[in-house]
Amino acid sequence: MILLLCGLSGAGKTTLAKSVKKLLAQQQIPSEIIDGDDYRQHLFKELGFSEDDRIENVRRLAFIAGKLSAHGIVTIISAINPYEHIRQEISFIYPNVKTVHVNCSIDNLICRDTKGLYKRALLADGHPDKLYNLTGVNDRFDVPENPDLCIHTDQSPIEQCTETLFNFIVQNGVCAEKIKS
Ligand code: ADP
Repeated sequence: MILLLCGLSGAGKTTLAKSVKKLLAQQQIPSEIIDGDDYRQHLFKELGFSEDDRIENVRRLAFIAGKLSAHGIVTIISAINPYEHIRQEISFIYPNVKTVHVNCSIDNLICRDTKGLYKRALLADGHPDKLYNLTGVNDRFDVPENPDLCIHTDQSPIEQCTETLFNFIVQNGVCAEKIKS
């Protein structure tokens, strides 16, 4: 099973990926997190944040995920993954891909601003620290048209969001795949 955790920066993708991984481990369910930032820093250093590079990034992450999930590992891709067409492409290519929209209002994200990115994106044009391509502020995010699951991290605490995701994985991934084989 491949989970596409998509959503704006700071929405909670990494937090939920890590917390659900812990719950899965407690049940001896193998999982792996493919974190977009991590792979950008270590493997895909040449990729930036243009539309083409964002697409290429997601295609590569999905390719790796396909290899892991073929071995029965619950593979969680945690990346903004902003474009509907590429998310659909991945769902078409690989088996049992589930799109999970990790959703949080922009007002809450600006409040959280864990990485200071929103502050920078909201600076006046021409400011030397201004960020011009922050998804959701001045870069495109296609809200998933038919996500398999939508988690509103500004409406429930982390523990509850984690449980929702865990139950979803067990019902749609682990159990469903065991029944099929
Ligand atoms: P992303 O990976 O989407 O960029 P992070 O997981 O790095 O986001 O950051 C999300 C921030 O929001 C963390 O500081 C986390 O503690 C906080 N947060 C508050 N409520 C929630 C929630 N219900 N689920 C996930 N994260 C939450």
